[in-house]
Amino acid sequence: MAKQQLSVDETVAMLDAVADAIIAAEPELSEADRNLGDGDHGLGMKRGMEAVKAKLSEGSFESVDKVFMAMGMAMMSSMGGASGAVFGTLFRNGGKALKGSETFDAAGLAEFLKGGTEGVMSRGGAKPGDKTMVDALEPAQKAAESAVSLPLSEALDTTAQAAEAGRDASKDLIATMGRAKTLGEASIGHPDAGACSVAIIFRTMATFAAGN
Ligand code: ADP
Ligand code: MG
Repeated sequence: MAKQQLSVDETVAMLDAVADAIIAAEPELSEADRNLGDGDHGLGMKRGMEAVKAKLSEGSFESVDKVFMAMGMAMMSSMGGASGAVFGTLFRNGGKALKGSETFDAAGLAEFLKGGTEGVMSRGGAKPGDKTMVDALEPAQKAAESAVSLPLSEALDTTAQAAEAGRDASKDLIATMGRAKTLGEASIGHPDAGACSVAIIFRTMATFAAGN
């Protein structure tokens, strides 16, 4: 059954599925980072998601904001590198924007992405076009904003499509941030590793909400 909204427990289950999908994608995320960076993105994200799964399984959470925030904190405290700060901030600041909500719906998705994207951009300083995860995140945020009145499952599908298109478009960009910056024009032709993670995160949420 496609979902209009998720309860707190369903939100925990959705984020647990996200963690499993990122762990399963470790080889492809590491490969993406080998092309442009130091090859550790998959392992870093895997370590973070193992910490997330441990945190989610412990928890009894009062509201959905607390679930997303716990995920962000678990990532920040277990991952090193740029992505610990950046992805941790996405979930922590995105969660904070949901302030006490007892359900997660399309309006909540838009609030999550607004708070999360602003947090990531102010923390890391990357803007759209710099060939980072922001190039998948910012289109996802815009898509979620335009999908606030849809059922959650449809809003998440629209958001995931935008993140995937952003990931694909990152292939053609020249890196100006992070480790890939030193490659200059040689960075053209490969998608950004963090953008690949963003696409997996929202596609997994969409699949969960679609009931598949
Ligand atoms: P590190 O670069 O420390 O090895 P990872 O390999 O885990 O960290 O993550 C690299 C990813 O982090 C990049 O693909 C990019 O998407 C993202 N990233 C790096 N720096 C920034 C930044 N300043 N803002 C947003 N995202 C960033
Ligand atoms: Mg790396």
